[in-house]
Amino acid sequence: MIEIDGTYGEGGGQILRTSLALSLVTGKPFTIKNIRGNRKRTGLLRQHFTAVNAAKEIGQANVEEFFMGSETLCFAPSTIQPGDYRFSVGSAGSAMLVFQTILPALMLADGPSQLTLEGGTHNPWAPPFNFVESAFLLCLNSMGPKVAMKLERYGFYPAGGGSFDVSITPSTKMGKLNLMNRGSLVCTKVLAQVANIPQSIAEREALILARKLNVSTENVVVENLTNSVGPGNIASVMVESEFSTEVFVGFGEHGVSAERVAKRLASEVNSYLIADVAVGQHLADQLLIPMALGKGGEFTSVKPTLHTETNIEVIKEFLDVDIRIKQLNEKAWSIKVALA
Ligand code: ATP
Repeated sequence: MIEIDGTYGEGGGQILRTSLALSLVTGKPFTIKNIRGNRKRTGLLRQHFTAVNAAKEIGQANVEEFFMGSETLCFAPSTIQPGDYRFSVGSAGSAMLVFQTILPALMLADGPSQLTLEGGTHNPWAPPFNFVESAFLLCLNSMGPKVAMKLERYGFYPAGGGSFDVSITPSTKMGKLNLMNRGSLVCTKVLAQVANIPQSIAEREALILARKLNVSTENVVVENLTNSVGPGNIASVMVESEFSTEVFVGFGEHGVSAERVAKRLASEVNSYLIADVAVGQHLADQLLIPMALGKGGEFTSVKPTLHTETNIEVIKEFLDVDIRIKQLNEKAWSIKVALA
């Protein structure tokens, strides 16, 4: 039985989700203690509870000590059942993270799946829908599976109520991912969106982003969303390069000016551009599971986060892989996943 300590490294929900994902794929049972042990509110919150429940259904798993707030769990999967599923977080908790928990098993399953996920779709501290659709899936689909997503309703914190559909055509032979060089810049696009708050907020963000990142007017879009239950504001920058696409998202917050949100985002994008790497900090930690389940590979990225370092250690608990981080220069690192 694999034993996971939820306080390890970053000590958040990712340790649980990676364990669930890889337990489903490998069939190896695990126990985890101190779930989200480094967080103020420890244990299973709605998002994590829904992720466990989704993994339980898909893997017909036996789960012990499974209740809201639980700080330990014993998870033993049996056979993966692809098919049609609907999972609802029931709060603004990220439905994207629930999706990422069950995706590895379903992308390797012996039949296609159709999912509907409900909850938060654009949460700070979680992968936003447009990042997953345009950056993460681009890499994943290049490795074999065919995964497509469609957003039905935006779900912003605190109202939630978002919804999206996913179709998954699995691949039995996952390939390699090599992204050492992003190639030349094709285009930078700015998208500033508001729901149920003044459009001028998005206009101010778009103006700053376009100026700071030198984006021409035809690549700047301001949108007033009508398909969101609650209020919300996000600004996104998509950097399309010859061999990779990255998406950076900034979130409007009470008490933080639109200009500040845009400046923070522009500086994140600039760090990526200056580092001249293929993969940003979030994509880096999320590509590791598909690479470790496929034929490995290597990419360049900005300084690895604690999320990335922690994820590497959890992956190694389940899979026989060697994952190495190497600093290339002051601003660039490479991460190599090699199968043992
Ligand atoms: P916690 O346990 O901290 O409450 P959690 O379960 O929501 O958190 P974390 O363990 O912090 O999750 O993992 C969050 C995941 O979301 C990480 O994979 C991280 O890279 C990703 N993420 C966070 N912000 C972004 C972003 N702006 N774009 C893409 N991915 C993001």
